[in-house]
Formats: sequence, structure tokens, C-alpha cells
Amino acid sequence: MVSLSRAHALRFRRSVPVTLGRGALAPILGFAVVFAGFGARTGMPLAAAAVLGAIGGTSSLLVHEFGHVRVARRFDGIRSASVSLLWLGAATRLEGAYKRGSEQTRVAIAGPRASFEFGLSIAALAVLPMPLPLREAVLMLALLNVAIGVLTLIPAYPLDGYKLMVGLLWSATGSRQSAQRVLGRIGRVAAVIVPPATAILVAAKPSIGLGAAIMAGTLFMQNQLLRKPSPNARKRVAARPPSGPGAR
Ligand SMILES: [Zn+2]
Repeated sequence: MVSLSRAHALRFRRSVPVTLGRGALAPILGFAVVFAGFGARTGMPLAAAAVLGAIGGTSSLLVHEFGHVRVARRFDGIRSASVSLLWLGAATRLEGAYKRGSEQTRVAIAGPRASFEFGLSIAALAVLPMPLPLREAVLMLALLNVAIGVLTLIPAYPLDGYKLMVGLLWSATGSRQSAQRVLGRIGRVAAVIVPPATAILVAAKPSIGLGAAIMAGTLFMQNQLLRKPSPNARKRVAARPPSGPGAR
């Protein structure tokens, strides 16, 4: 992970620059704290757990985004693709436009697929001989990648699941605009149904309901942040919104 100046970003245009956006330290520190807390319960030294979380967690976000970038760069319409680490995760920034729905579908699914594959590779590492607390931390990292894959497949803007739906509907209807119109209508219905449904869930099953409410709040925040790119980022971002999870 490197921070590149504008000049460097241009020079390495074809080699995928990774830029540190606003709040790039937040996910790194967040993973360190979560893994340190996990280590405290399993008996792993705190510093080792924090370092594993900071490096492993951040790598997990980047692997996901590079999954998108690797596939996006195969398409003529995409002029450049880069990855930004920012508040609440990471995002892929693409310049250019897809020519057909199948391209958007393939780019959207590539991130979650990379997360699942990385998660499986990490899980495979856990069969190696190692102290039990370390094995538990490695398995937690594997689980984190599976969670990133699953969560980003939720069909809500700006997540991959939404872009996947746009791509599939675009392929089916032959028009990106009608795909977005259909999803816009579904979104407006969801905006009416989801808040009261969440309130009922919080009342009935507080732990699941609060978890869902926090996740919805995080998605909303990320949506807001992605709509207002930093002045520096705005110069580089073309007319299209960036893709990626939040996290990523
Ligand atoms: Zn993604």
C-alpha cells in the first residue's frame, strides 16, 4: 500500500495505483483494534494480534478491490482503474464506461469472488502447525473475507450486489437506463418498508435488529462519502461513481 502523488499516480496509471483517501487510517486501526480484542479473549499477544489484524484486514480489503480492477482493465471502455483506501473501507475508482451489461456484471462479481478465494486460501493456511490462538486469528481473518464477500453482495447502492443487478438487468433489457429505473423503483419501495421493518426487528430481536440498523447506517454513511469525493479525488474521477464496498 503506497500513497502516490498525482504525478506518480499518472506514471503508474497502468500498474494500479493505490491511494490513501480521507480516513485511510481508520480501517487499518479498526482491524488492529478488533483483532487485538479477539486476541485478548483467545490468549494471543495483543501486539501480534493487532499487527495481524492491521495487515491482514487491510490486505483483505485491497484483495477485494484488486479483484474488480483486474477484470475492469480487460475492457476497452475502462481507461484506468485504481484503488483508494478510505473511511469505512476501500473503493475502486474507474475512469471510462462499460459498453455492455455483461462487462458491469463481470466487474461487480470479481470483487466478492476474490474475497471468497482469498478467504479459502487463508483458511487452508490454518492446517499448518501453529499455536492455537494464532490458528483462531487466522480463521477469523478467513471468516472476515467470507463476510466481505457476502456483505458486498447485498443489492443496495453502492455495493457490488447493486452493480451486479444493474449489469444483469442491463443485459436482460438491453439498456442501462431502464435497468437503473427498475432498481430505482425497487429502492424507493425499500426506503418505505425497511425503516419500520428494522424498528420491529429491534423490538423483537434487539441483537439482530441493532446489527442490521448499524449495517444500514454504515452503508448510508459510505453512500454519502462516495457521493462527495475529496477535491483531490474529484480531479481524477470521471463521470462515473466509484465501485466497491466499503469497503468495502
Ligand atoms: Zn466490491
